[in-house]
Amino acid sequence: MDLSYTRTEEAFRAEAREWLRDHVPAEPPPSLETAEGFAAHRAWEAELAAARWSVVSWPEEYGGRGVDLARWLVFEEEYWAAGAPGRVSQNGVQLLAPTLFDHGTAEQRARILPPMATGETIWAQAWSEPEAGSDLASLTSRAVRTDGGWLLSGLKTWSSRAAFADRAFGIFRSDPEADRPHRGLTYLMFDLRARGVTVRPIGRLDGKPAFAELFLDEVFVPDEDVIGEPGQGWRIAMSTTGNERGLMLRSPGRFLAAADRLVRLWRSEGDPGDPALRERVADAVIGARAYQLFTAGAAARLAAGAPSGAESSLNKVFWSEYDLALHETALDLLGPEGELADGAWAEGYVFSLAGPLYAGTNEIQRDIIAERLLGLPKGRR
Ligand SMILES: Cc1cc2nc3c(=O)[nH]c(=O)nc-3n(C[C@H](O)[C@H](O)[C@H](O)COP(=O)(O)OP(=O)(O)OC[C@H]3O[C@@H](n4cnc5c(N)ncnc54)[C@H](O)[C@@H]3O)c2cc1C
Repeated sequence: MDLSYTRTEEAFRAEAREWLRDHVPAEPPPSLETAEGFAAHRAWEAELAAARWSVVSWPEEYGGRGVDLARWLVFEEEYWAAGAPGRVSQNGVQLLAPTLFDHGTAEQRARILPPMATGETIWAQAWSEPEAGSDLASLTSRAVRTDGGWLLSGLKTWSSRAAFADRAFGIFRSDPEADRPHRGLTYLMFDLRARGVTVRPIGRLDGKPAFAELFLDEVFVPDEDVIGEPGQGWRIAMSTTGNERGLMLRSPGRFLAAADRLVRLWRSEGDPGDPALRERVADAVIGARAYQLFTAGAAARLAAGAPSGAESSLNKVFWSEYDLALHETALDLLGPEGELADGAWAEGYVFSLAGPLYAGTNEIQRDIIAERLLGLPKGRR
């Protein structure tokens, strides 16, 4: 595999670098898990979009630059190296948008993607329920047919950013008589401020309302907000999970930049007489580079037309465990104050704790790897 960059890629890198150098805020905005931080991150999305940097891989008609995966990876490297803010629009851009590209109508794409690209509409994912996490197919929230659309009722939980977001997408049981639990589900989008929706924020470990419960009581959704055919929700949802676990959610650029910051932290705080910690810093650098190479391989396979498939589970286990180890190393370097200070490392650590859980727990990903990639027999469930 040829890993050198083409002239087009290098020119694209230079353009992105220059823009980011001139525009990334000198002071990082407040945490996006606060009302003030959410608004600041939304404004950043609008600034990115005005220069068409918010969704570089999308077609131009929706606000993108139509670049291929290789240039998307280049952009991500520059983005994180420049210390740019985390992406508040991630659920929409990385989960809903690919679903609409694959299964939505032209009307849905034209209506939904442009305001997503500018941060005007921020999306939440409403899949999980109190009794339907890993076993998502057992979900019980309902979609009942009515004139011109559907009425949604039930309870969704752990919906990231729903405390401040505008709209949500989720799967609902539309045919309770279906012969199998994953049949008879429908994929719909709804407004978080619609009549019948109650959003109850849930505090994270540090008290910030990073998630919400969504109580739904006969919430009307017009037919135009159904994605794909009614009853096909499971199949559509499974195409979304590949994007969530695969390379789109955690690009290597993010970890290369984080490993770089860790090396700088080691230089300022590290004790040269502590070889164990020094080795963990070196492991973080090696891990970031290994992930970069692994991702380059995955991108080449995707570009050649291969589906993302079960390989995305390998990515997910790797980046989630890597992120946690990197942040633990940083906090060990900082000592007790590191956890108390409300800085980037402490915030990143709290977020990294959840990596092995969200986007499907790592236990479930390991099952998928064992069964679908290694061909091992099914475990006992
Ligand atoms: C930070 C964070 C953000 C999230 N954001 C969202 C969001 O935006 N939208 C959304 O819909 N959901 C979200 N979730 C929910 C997330 O998808 C679920 O927490 C996850 O799927 C696990 O489901 P559960 O919590 O019900 O745990 P359970 O499914 O009850 O699992 C509990 C434990 O049992 C293990 N387990 C369960 N079944 C098996 C099995 N068959 N084999 C082996 N081990 C098993 C699990 O791996 C886990 O360790 C988020 C979660 C977190 C932590």
